[in-house]
Amino acid sequence: MKNSLQLGIIGGIKVTVHWTFVLLIGWIVFINLRVGSTAENTLWSVLFVLLIFGCVVLHEFGHAFAAKRFGIKTRSITLLPIGGLASLESMPEKPKQELIVAIAGPVVNLLIAAILIPFVNPSDVFTVDSIVAVHSGNLLPNLFSVNIVLAVFNMLPAFPMDGGRVLRALLGFKFKRHIATRIAASIGQAISVGFILLGLFYNPFLVFIGIFIFLGAQAEAGSTRTQFMMANFTVRDAMIRDFHTLDYNDPISSAVQLLLNGQEKNFLVMQNEKPAGTLDRNQIIKALSEKGKDSKIEDAMHKSALSFQQNTPLKEAWPRMQMNRQIIAPIYDGSKLIGALDNENILEFVMIREATEKSNVRQLIVPPDDSDKVKILYK
Ligand SMILES: [Zn+2]
Repeated sequence: MKNSLQLGIIGGIKVTVHWTFVLLIGWIVFINLRVGSTAENTLWSVLFVLLIFGCVVLHEFGHAFAAKRFGIKTRSITLLPIGGLASLESMPEKPKQELIVAIAGPVVNLLIAAILIPFVNPSDVFTVDSIVAVHSGNLLPNLFSVNIVLAVFNMLPAFPMDGGRVLRALLGFKFKRHIATRIAASIGQAISVGFILLGLFYNPFLVFIGIFIFLGAQAEAGSTRTQFMMANFTVRDAMIRDFHTLDYNDPISSAVQLLLNGQEKNFLVMQNEKPAGTLDRNQIIKALSEKGKDSKIEDAMHKSALSFQQNTPLKEAWPRMQMNRQIIAPIYDGSKLIGALDNENILEFVMIREATEKSNVRQLIVPPDDSDKVKILYK
């Protein structure tokens, strides 16, 4: 993540802190100054917050190490003022694995709490109602309390929070993954609305968390459904076979001509018969209005040479196209260009899959150029 300072690399995982974290520390110092705390008390407050975030990092490492057991790498762990974020390269799809990865974070907080028990006097637990009230005598008991709260809060079944992922994993034993996700996401969104309403009256922090959960649930339910619909298909199944390419040396007028001649809106740009980039309708119009019809395609195109072999699984290719912000990609059979994978076509492909899934009928799709082969779309 940009705007983040790297703290170190632990177990191959980059640990970074977002710059806004400095604002949080500044705010702690500010509210201490406002109530007239001594420098020593201010330091205890800051130390307490740093220790809480230390526990948050350990929580994220819980997820990361559990994921590692299943061969999933974690790129980084980032600290934000609202909590930690572990970016795993993928999510485990087997319910049992997801259950273990999701539960590992809160388990770390319970372990920390267990380690702190010998240092905790029960009368000091949950006693601090403001950060300015922390001092040497109640620091550890309250760190104990914080870890209990972190474990319980994260285990609320509000997908995509940990508890919500546990819920999806449990549902996954009975339902298909995208259905399990849809149920978990609906429950998560209902809870998030509760957070937002509660937050409006009591704590604005909950409003942020509520919005974060609501949007997160929506996005993940959508992408899980899309990925499910793509499973067992290759890029060849979704590619277009009838398309035009442009040469990067050509003037923008030749792109305009192609745009006017047919239905295509996105084009592959080639350089010496190798992919060099892509050009879409907006880029063509922009180049035409700003630089004129004789300007070069090379200057207007999105430079990216991402291409796929025909047997690449569709659900692998699609996220890579998204990551590269590429709207169309060339498909090869060895070194021969045989098709193009267009974002809009992928979405149409998914919509057709959804429709056949709903109607629950076997549907046959006959690829136009190899009529001897019949692809069963619905399995
Ligand atoms: Zn977690």
